Amino acid sequence: MSLIVQKYGGTSMADPRCIAMVAERVKRAKEEGHDVVVVVSAMAGETDRLLSLAHALNDNPKPREYSALLATGEQASTALLCIALDKLDYQARSFTGLQAGIQTTSEHKKARIADINTKALRASLAKGEIPVVAGFQGVNTEGDVTTLGRGGSDTTAVAVAAALQADECQIYTDVDGVYTADPRIEPQARRLAKVTFEEMLELASLGAKVLQTRSVELIGKYRVPLRVLSTFSEGGGTLVTFEDDTMEQPLVSGIAYNRNEAKLTVLGVPDVPGVASQIISSVSTAGIDVDIIVQNIAYNGVTDFSFTVHRDDYQRALAILGETAERLGARVVLGDNKIGKLSLVGVGMRSHAGVANTMFATLGEEGVNIQMITTSEIKISVVIEEREIDRSVRALHKAFKLDCEPVVEMDPYREKERTL
Ligand code: ADP
Ligand code: ASP
Ligand code: MG
Repeated sequence: MSLIVQKYGGTSMADPRCIAMVAERVKRAKEEGHDVVVVVSAMAGETDRLLSLAHALNDNPKPREYSALLATGEQASTALLCIALDKLDYQARSFTGLQAGIQTTSEHKKARIADINTKALRASLAKGEIPVVAGFQGVNTEGDVTTLGRGGSDTTAVAVAAALQADECQIYTDVDGVYTADPRIEPQARRLAKVTFEEMLELASLGAKVLQTRSVELIGKYRVPLRVLSTFSEGGGTLVTFEDDTMEQPLVSGIAYNRNEAKLTVLGVPDVPGVASQIISSVSTAGIDVDIIVQNIAYNGVTDFSFTVHRDDYQRALAILGETAERLGARVVLGDNKIGKLSLVGVGMRSHAGVANTMFATLGEEGVNIQMITTSEIKISVVIEEREIDRSVRALHKAFKLDCEPVVEMDPYREKERTL
């Protein structure tokens, strides 16, 4: 018998009507003869509601209590879905992260799943039940409840699928797959029937929140067969594949953006060895992740140095950098927290040049100023003003014809090989 892990996100669990629809979907999978394990998120808006309650009482809630509080959202969802399944005469059992055997590392707010003891889940399946697991949470070695970072229920689902060696992990959400761009911003965005694992990893880490980045890492690590599907409509969704036939891939597969960034610049830094390290280490030792780093060529013995951080860390990074700049004898520190990052992703870029040219020209024609650029083999990212993101996404979507099915030019020699 095949085993499927289904994950339902917040909008899929938004209210009793949605939860009843989810129960119907689970029922259908059972009727098709599958064993099913379900992972659920908190009801839409619930995690934010709990967060604002905490912040109304204290600007800086202790991480342990932050996790203890937020984990209740997912727990309520598991019980509600079991109640709905019971109404359909299906035996279901709710599991907290602890009950499902989900062991995590010790950090409370961004814990990683270290191990899953599947005994309880397997016993429940053996009894013919549908285990319904709370996403986004686990327990650390001290026995404290931990959470996996925003969007973490995706990671729970993939980890549970890997641990149970499920035949498929299905991520049900409010869109019917992974699109060429966020369909909320670009109505012309097209669903991708398939996306390579590598592209999905880039898209997620560059801001496409349809899958949490950590969940995509686990898809790769354990080769989990995964599909993104809609709770509210039918269709094949998007399959994450491990093919790497770049010759058959379009140049650009998707566009991602991230509004949660901020830029810091130190002007007039003495151009001597060790300065970059001192600047970056001063912020990274404070636990702040640095993203894009740019250093200009030196002129008259001084240079300029810029980098980006998460917007939540902006004020802290600015304060630290002020002290570092003074110590280094730099001229001035500038900051801008109204920036965003826009990225083109595609394994097809590996075998083609010219993508950057088209990207820069398109943004230029739109009058969008590029502040920073960074590239890798399969992505190009630029930092621009935040308010220009939506319009830039649409312009690039059009320029790369992402709304049309890609026409892939075959290499004539390869074509010949195939027909031989
Ligand atoms: P869930 O609550 O089900 O986990 P999320 O809100 O976390 O759902 O993720 C789904 C959302 O991701 C979509 O509503 C969509 O706006 C956004 N999104 C961003 N980029 C993409 C993309 N490339 N393809 C599909 N959805 C995307
Ligand atoms: N409820 C959590 C969040 O809103 C986890 C999730 O939905 O995946 O981030
Ligand atoms: Mg999500």
